[in-house]
Amino acid sequence: MSPIIEKYIEIVKKRNPGEIEFHEAVEEVLESLVPVLEKHHEFVENGIIERLIEPERQITFAVPWIDDNGKVQVNRGFRVQFNSAIGPYKGGLRFHPSVYIGIIKFLGFEQIFKNSLTGLPIGGGKGGADFDPKGKSEREVMRFCQSFMTELQRHIGPDIDVPAGDIGVGGREIGYLFGQYKRIKGNFQNGVLTGKGIGWGGSLVRTQATGYGIIYFVREMLKANNETIKNKKVVISGSGNVAIYACEKAQYYGAKVVAMSDSNGYILDEDGIKLDTVKKIKEVERKRIKEYVKYHTNAKYVEGGCIWEIPCDIALPCATQNDINAESAQKLIDNGVFAVGEGANMPSTIEAIKLFQKNNILLAPAKAANAGGVATSALEMSQNSMRLSWTAEEVDAKLDGIMTNIFKTCDKASKEYGMPKNYVAGANIAGFLKVANAMMAQGV
Ligand code: GLU
Repeated sequence: MSPIIEKYIEIVKKRNPGEIEFHEAVEEVLESLVPVLEKHHEFVENGIIERLIEPERQITFAVPWIDDNGKVQVNRGFRVQFNSAIGPYKGGLRFHPSVYIGIIKFLGFEQIFKNSLTGLPIGGGKGGADFDPKGKSEREVMRFCQSFMTELQRHIGPDIDVPAGDIGVGGREIGYLFGQYKRIKGNFQNGVLTGKGIGWGGSLVRTQATGYGIIYFVREMLKANNETIKNKKVVISGSGNVAIYACEKAQYYGAKVVAMSDSNGYILDEDGIKLDTVKKIKEVERKRIKEYVKYHTNAKYVEGGCIWEIPCDIALPCATQNDINAESAQKLIDNGVFAVGEGANMPSTIEAIKLFQKNNILLAPAKAANAGGVATSALEMSQNSMRLSWTAEEVDAKLDGIMTNIFKTCDKASKEYGMPKNYVAGANIAGFLKVANAMMAQGV
């Protein structure tokens, strides 16, 4: 590791013991920034990195609620307001049993650069709780969301911090959270949350935006390398919102998507995934992906299997962090993968990224490729401020333009710093520069 970044990594590890996901996220970004820090001493002299790796504010709170049996349950809630150099804090809420402060900090840190890359005025933040929505009744989810917002409302606002969804938080949860915010505040400030329902301030295409955005980015990346998505065999991990709409857009461009998964196993349909069935199972029935084989008997379900053992041209990890380790990356490479588009946040481990780079695999990094979700959230904020709604076509065209522009920005930065085709470095550098320059301008 370069000595210029070593001391920062040490600070992060010492101040945040045991928060391994956060350590990894910082290490990955800082490694890309070495040439920038060597060139721009002013960033080092003005403590820009020290300030970036320390969240501006971290809030931890109790979330007590009553389950259907009348028993008191207590979860732990978080909001990390990481950096506000270029706009109000912006980022999702994750409800998942694995959530602890280390996960929220890794996600919040990534969000700073992702939001910067969108070109829109949004700072970085993230939150969530170690609550597992799986197996909970509608009423339990509602009571949990209400209790969560009872505390969170003190810390957020349309010009302060604007949460949205992430794993375990979709339209249903945003509805309950907004209802409670409105009840407590006594006014209709719908710019406080994004991912809202269409009838009450939500933006058309927000649901599809992360998934569509990944494919727009991958389309541009392939175009720059004289390739296309058409007729390529694609494997997508996950079957949540991001995976479903990445699949939809990949199929629209003529790709053959053959596999999707959930945390229990994967389905393989060599004839091509029937997305309507996946939507019915996941969006309507909220069931597990294994149900798919009941409708399509030619497909197979592999319980506990690693989806990356399936040969493919393009891999789209759209499930969660650390989904592709070195072993899975090697399997993909041996089976002839030529491009990877990261839909989830930090789905490839640092070792997996190194292997992809060593083997010249085209890699669309998460903070660039999955920025379409938060970018469309920022478009939702614009519409809320104007008290107007754009059509689906208008939002989709803006999203496409934003993703195309993010690719160009990453490509340009990677070339400028002597690492052509290294879009990981390009994304980190371009995302960083905008934030660092804003921090310089605003003083310590
Ligand atoms: N959770 C999403 C992300 O990782 C969306 C955040 C948002 O819309 O604010 O970017």
